[in-house]
Amino acid sequence: MLLEVRDLQVEFHTRDGVAKAVNGVNYSVDAGETLAVLGESGSGKSVTAQAIMGILDIPPGKITGGEILFQGEDLLKMKEDERRKVRGAGMAMIFQDALSSLNPVLSVGDQLGEMFVVHRGMSRKDARAKAVELMDRVRIPAAAERVRQYPHQFSGGMRQRIMIAMALALEPALIIADEPTTALDVTVQAQVMDLLAELQREYNMGLILITHDLGVVADVADRIAVMYAGRIVETAPVHDIYKAPAHPYTRGLLDSIPRLDHKGLELYAIKGLPPNLMDIPPGCAFHPRCPMAQDVCRTDVPPLYEVSETRGSACHFWRECLDG
Ligand code: SF4
Ligand code: MG
Repeated sequence: MLLEVRDLQVEFHTRDGVAKAVNGVNYSVDAGETLAVLGESGSGKSVTAQAIMGILDIPPGKITGGEILFQGEDLLKMKEDERRKVRGAGMAMIFQDALSSLNPVLSVGDQLGEMFVVHRGMSRKDARAKAVELMDRVRIPAAAERVRQYPHQFSGGMRQRIMIAMALALEPALIIADEPTTALDVTVQAQVMDLLAELQREYNMGLILITHDLGVVADVADRIAVMYAGRIVETAPVHDIYKAPAHPYTRGLLDSIPRLDHKGLELYAIKGLPPNLMDIPPGCAFHPRCPMAQDVCRTDVPPLYEVSETRGSACHFWRECLDG
């Protein structure tokens, strides 16, 4: 297994109290596999990713338990310099907002080239050639000329391609993409997502795709993990989820996907808001919003029930949910 997250716990200590952002998350990704991690903002999906990348080790975020095994080694037990090596060459992250992740005063060629100068000890000239090659790989037209341009001279979609090129530069085993297409137009979203999926296959990388939008993952993900209030509430192969969700929250997410044949109809939205992480409801954290909630849901935390060998649901009534 390329990456295994085991019982991860993350807390945020603030003046107002302790927020339990991640509360016992387990998931894994293999080489060549795409795991989509789904949830609303505040579900813990980004925080989990930041813990994996090791960019959470600054207060107020604190990892209070669990393991993150990368190629068999626990990242949480590594010294900072070992960790930095893994972060540089073993894994890379793509963020939603390319404009604030790229340096505005450096040409994209210099930024891409920097990776090869710093990590591969290449000359400036060779690094520049590599930068052009990478821009070609992510299908930026006229790469040889545009390599001299600055981030603001590119469209949002093209900038996101540059982010993908940066992430690919050192051929990492794992890429984590956090809402990589959320800021883009729908048509551009699909193009960027297709490109990412294609490169992931070509390089046989593991890909963790973090999104709030179940609509974008159908064609690219192998498996889905749905998060709510810092826990995984359903995990399954992507096709199983689309056929029949085994958790009412997943059902709500599915029903909120805009569909072409439903044009004009009002979009379904899950009622209510995600909980305050400093005050997570007892029992099933989803119960205040759940159309299927019973008394037991208000008192007993549902474990991740085994629905099948490849599928789990943290709902006391997963059978009823499956039956629709
Ligand atoms: Fe709804 Fe109860 Fe299932 Fe939670 S455990 S999702 S409240 S039915
Ligand atoms: Mg986020």
